[in-house]
Amino acid sequence: MLNIKVFGIVQGVGFRPFVSRIAAANKIFGTVANRGSYVEIFAQGADDDLQKFLAALRDEAPERSAILNVAIDNLPDENFADFRIVDSVHEAGDIFVSPDIAVCDKCAAELFDPTNRRYLHPFINCTACGPRLTILRNMPYDRERTSMDAFPMCDACAEEYHNPASRRYDAQPVCCNDCGPEVYLLGENLRGHEAIRHVRKILAQGGIVAIKGIGGFHLACDARNFAAVNRLRNSKTRPTKPFAVMFRDVDAVSRECILTAAQMKFLDSPQKPIVLLQKISGGTIAGNVAPNINRLGAMLPYTPLHMLLFNFPDALKNFPDALIMTSGNPSGAPITIDDADALKNFGDFCDAILSHDRDILLRADDSVMDFVDDRPSMIRRSRGYAPLPIFYGGKKIPVLAIGGELKNTFCLAKNNLLYASPYIGDVGDLRTVEVLKASINRMRDLLEISPEVVACDLHPRYQTTALATELAAKLNVPLVKVQHHFAHVLSCLAENNHGDAVIGVAFDGTGYGDDGTIWGGEFLICDATTYERAETISPFIQAGGDKSAREGWRIALSMIDIALARELRLATDAELAGQKFLLDKKINCVTSTSAGRLFDAVAAILGVCNVSTYEGEAAMRLQAVAERSTCESCGDFATTAELFAEVVSRRLRGENIFDTARFFHASLAEFVANVCAELSLRTKIKTVALSGGVFQNSLLSSLTATALNRRGLNVLRHELIPANDGGLCVGQAVHARAVSR
Ligand SMILES: [Zn+2]
Ligand SMILES: [Zn+2]
Repeated sequence: MLNIKVFGIVQGVGFRPFVSRIAAANKIFGTVANRGSYVEIFAQGADDDLQKFLAALRDEAPERSAILNVAIDNLPDENFADFRIVDSVHEAGDIFVSPDIAVCDKCAAELFDPTNRRYLHPFINCTACGPRLTILRNMPYDRERTSMDAFPMCDACAEEYHNPASRRYDAQPVCCNDCGPEVYLLGENLRGHEAIRHVRKILAQGGIVAIKGIGGFHLACDARNFAAVNRLRNSKTRPTKPFAVMFRDVDAVSRECILTAAQMKFLDSPQKPIVLLQKISGGTIAGNVAPNINRLGAMLPYTPLHMLLFNFPDALKNFPDALIMTSGNPSGAPITIDDADALKNFGDFCDAILSHDRDILLRADDSVMDFVDDRPSMIRRSRGYAPLPIFYGGKKIPVLAIGGELKNTFCLAKNNLLYASPYIGDVGDLRTVEVLKASINRMRDLLEISPEVVACDLHPRYQTTALATELAAKLNVPLVKVQHHFAHVLSCLAENNHGDAVIGVAFDGTGYGDDGTIWGGEFLICDATTYERAETISPFIQAGGDKSAREGWRIALSMIDIALARELRLATDAELAGQKFLLDKKINCVTSTSAGRLFDAVAAILGVCNVSTYEGEAAMRLQAVAERSTCESCGDFATTAELFAEVVSRRLRGENIFDTARFFHASLAEFVANVCAELSLRTKIKTVALSGGVFQNSLLSSLTATALNRRGLNVLRHELIPANDGGLCVGQAVHARAVSR
């Protein structure tokens, strides 16, 4: 008899039923059980059959599973009379929690098959698809430990659940029209299909609807309807930040956007992220969905309810094939997940709220992915990806890394696994702090991690620093503070499983430096234990606090003469005089090397964007402008101050702003490569890691990687861990472990 232990993503993906099927096919007797951290099989049969069984185990495993290791032992035979799935037994060890999985093709087909008993059931799922993390209370993954425990199975569902030949054998969220959760309109007496029909009518007429999904509520409206989008913008106080669009199908996406094969693979994957795609001009999507930029965030329906909204067989004609689907959260707060908050947050401006009675236990916003050089570049890693761990060697001390203040995610580490959480949000808001605390507790329970170290940012006034200090004291464990840009570089090392020293280039908006100034254009020689700040972009003065982070003209004024600023009309005379006063009197001034602010200043000089209404707006618009140029020229500058001066003189000479924007990107890439080449000569390090939110700029990232390769340097970039502050927690965890005991 063989004792087989299978490690990896093997829970909640139909693994036990799969094992049961291949056992039957190969005349194997024995058992299979979830052990919390792995699946354990006892298999008894003829030698030939056992070999075939083992081969099938490796080669035919369910699409959604990921086998990381198989351990096999020989044991004496026992008296098995058949092969069966035995109850889960809980054991400690590495734990793999499956992310939520988009509805599969088979379930989608059944959903619209009038002869199927789950015809039009908004919660249809099977062992290959459906919610996982967001409905999970504890491991191992079994129905009574999910929010589906409120819905006892009917006889027909129970039969499928217990039948090894069924696609729903052992599928924990299995349910149907008779026994499953139900959708309903909040505050109105409409349920089920009536509610869906009603919502379709409202959306077709240009209304706004809040819709409960897998990981939280969305706000939806017709993406082709300018007035509807405008109303949504006013209600959300979100003047220009792009909205994501859910398209009915790939055809609708292709009509509006350019879609490469690599992008298509991710867009239509089981994770179904939002993918940023190049817009095609002359499309039907309203101009105010993603104004001033050349990209559109597109995704496909990933729940049965989404599919029903687009395709419900009613008499309604001309239902939009593209809907805005933006996270339903009050400004600054985390995504809304329950009815009471939905009424409070959306009741006054939504024309309907479509909810359901399956509880969301952990929030998961949609993941957002861009592409650089046809490789993924994760912007927000959440639904579909979290909490899949990444593997990184080194010390195995259990750590809680609390992450940064903006785009917060946190990371729990155990053994060689780093588990980054779903997206939490901006922790400047106290409501977000509460959600962060609750999410940490839930993830700690799920993953059974008792941190022996807590890590956080170096910033003394971050809410996350205060929370980390509090948690470390409560747990009575050491607190490790990690410099922001150091953490960025280490997150890139971890994602690339790179253990040696690197030249790290961390370019972002802002981070607290170890000298108390603002950093953000840093060249760090580092490994997991320590860093040397080897070089920076040219320092400038940031005056005016928060305003200087939103208004690029304020940064520009600290680098040019006020007469010039007037000539370029960077702001009104009074505003310029006020800012000049702050600079001259050194009021509210701090030295800064923020690369993000340098982009803001250039965008202001070129008249592309003077004031950002959301983080990164000026840089995104500058990139969009640069991408309209085909000019290949670039200059060789010893400092970024000289490069900036050249941009100013080109502007004064009246040169084409598209070409100048492109010239700025290309010259900055050359500058980075030159600095790295010098540092490589000095240190003999041949690998450069690019991190920080500025490298989400696909044009800059691509040009920089090319320039570095030309100088014979290897380049590490982010793919599935965000280059922005959403990835910080991973780098913090890496450093905290490296310096512990
Ligand atoms: Zn399915
Ligand atoms: Zn049922």
